Amino acid sequence: MITDVINTNEIKKVDPVFGQLSFDNHEQIVFCNDKDTGLKAIIGIHNTVLGPALGGTRMWQYANEWEALNDVLRLSRGMTFKSAITGLNLGGGKAVIIGDAKSQKTPELMKKFGEFVHSLSGRYITAEDVGMETADMDLVREVTPFVTGISESKGGAGNPSPVTAYGVFMGMKAAAKFKFGSDVLEDKTVYVQGIGHVGESLVEHLTNEGAKVVIADINEARLEQVSKKYGASIYKGNDLYAEEMDIYAPCALGATVNDDTIYKLKAKVIAGAANNQLAVEEKHGHILQEHGIVYAPDFLINAGGIINVYAELEGYGKQEIMRKTENIYDTTLEILESAKANEITANRAALNIAQTRIAQRKKENSK
Ligand code: NAD
Repeated sequence: MITDVINTNEIKKVDPVFGQLSFDNHEQIVFCNDKDTGLKAIIGIHNTVLGPALGGTRMWQYANEWEALNDVLRLSRGMTFKSAITGLNLGGGKAVIIGDAKSQKTPELMKKFGEFVHSLSGRYITAEDVGMETADMDLVREVTPFVTGISESKGGAGNPSPVTAYGVFMGMKAAAKFKFGSDVLEDKTVYVQGIGHVGESLVEHLTNEGAKVVIADINEARLEQVSKKYGASIYKGNDLYAEEMDIYAPCALGATVNDDTIYKLKAKVIAGAANNQLAVEEKHGHILQEHGIVYAPDFLINAGGIINVYAELEGYGKQEIMRKTENIYDTTLEILESAKANEITANRAALNIAQTRIAQRKKENSK
């Protein structure tokens, strides 16, 4: 199983919360428990300097609570930088619900979770992530206004995943332009790992452009379905990372670029939707750079979803959503070029911009 967690044994040795490897001065961490519905959730608020902490809720069957805690710490931090680099007035937050979304998610559990979100008075605003549907957010909306990603029929901007996929496609094209000199993806071999809500929509963009798309997923039925719909090839091997490919698009869970996979990678570009693709940002970012593999920072190119849900708060429409998402192309290209000029990783270059924006706002706020 892929998780966004680095090493459970390592993280157990340190102080339970503030001493975690993934703890990065998070403002608030809320543990939520409800015996009647079986809800066990953690809400992580990383930073609220730019605005309320907005980020989706993930429901996942974690191996243990350490994994869940580290996931929420890493994911909420990522949201801070995603919103900052995208120019949104939002902070970073995220929530995880421990459990199997297929068998343990009930309307009562979702509403109870909504009550916990409500208790934070808007410091945290939720939305969908892995294991969540628009209908779940509609349930949360029944008990709190601090939720986005609700149905269009209920005044929301709808499912953010197609917009996320479009942004990833833009970021991928920019990374291709940087690496290959052209952003045309026709005949490029692209491996899409994870063909869920975002992955499938990305496959559609890629096949429309004439790319050779190979899909991988743990869900056999979905593989058949998506392959049939778009004519994509199904990956049947057992070591995807070692395959010859032009572009690797991680669209399942995070940390797939890690000590085990990084030296096998033959891809020339990595651009996908998954959050926290680099298990250890600086270390793995540097190794990719040394190997000439262009990495389009995840928190930059997967911002389409947050742009979509931000529209619900700011009241802008589809046209503006798509315009802001299209900007991901220019920002990605600028960041890749600046990273090269300054001899730093693309991830570092993107973080520098995001952190500078937060620091400036903090200074303004304290005046
Ligand atoms: P999803 O749950 O709809 O899809 C995930 C897919 O990955 C599923 O089909 C699942 O079977 C597959 N998968 C899980 N483990 C796998 C493995 N080991 N190998 C191959 N496939 C595996 O989720 P989604 O909404 O499409 O999101 C995908 C990723 O993008 C997540 O990391 C999410 O955090 C990130 N993301 C999503 C959005 C959004 O708008 N939905 C926005 C930003 C980032």
